Amino acid sequence: MRPRIGVTCGSGGEDGSFTLRPQYVEAVARAGGLPLLLPATEDVPAEAVLEAVDGVLLTGGGDVDPDWYGEEPRVVNGQINPVRDRFEIALCRAALRAGRPVLGICRGAQVLNVAAGGSLYQDLAREMGTSLQHAQKAPGWYGTHKVTVQEGTLLWRLVGATTLRVNSFHHQGVREVAPGFTACAHAADGVVEAIEGAGPAWALGIQWHPERSYKVNSPEFGLFKGFVEACRAARAQQA
Ligand code: MN
Repeated sequence: MRPRIGVTCGSGGEDGSFTLRPQYVEAVARAGGLPLLLPATEDVPAEAVLEAVDGVLLTGGGDVDPDWYGEEPRVVNGQINPVRDRFEIALCRAALRAGRPVLGICRGAQVLNVAAGGSLYQDLAREMGTSLQHAQKAPGWYGTHKVTVQEGTLLWRLVGATTLRVNSFHHQGVREVAPGFTACAHAADGVVEAIEGAGPAWALGIQWHPERSYKVNSPEFGLFKGFVEACRAARAQQA
């Protein structure tokens, strides 16, 4: 049986349609998971959503409302989606409490950090003062900046490398790493590019978009394989 992977969605447009780039679904399916889309809703408690899945993939999107990490919004903050914030943060906390695997990608890494009690830079260029290009203009499959992966970490075991060239489509980033988490990859300017749970629970946040680049950068596929395997183990534990 394939482990059931809950994949969160964005929403927008004139009619508020739910949105998801198909690469997330493809990556999960190719890694052996059963992708199940989870639309943000205020009408189902997070625990009930979690019962339907073995692990949670928090996907990319807009900015988290800085109120979640105790800050007023500054002019550099981007679009927020209050319903999605509430849904994903509650779901993430429920998953962490229950020991279900969580993989956060881009915004998802930021949601994971905030849900666990960390904070963000509302804008890296203007608040951290970096001039490294984190909002690349190159195609998504192409890695434009380097990250250094901390040896001995979960991320390091999954990708089997201490350096990667990754794509970059973010203007925010982790400021204070959440309690119980560690930074496991950094860009050359010191920006945190990945965080992971320091405890036994499988929780990983990736600031880049491996789902757009893994076909041409195979070590990155290890992220999805490792995530799906962790979800399989979580499913076996519940049975
Ligand atoms: Mn970056």
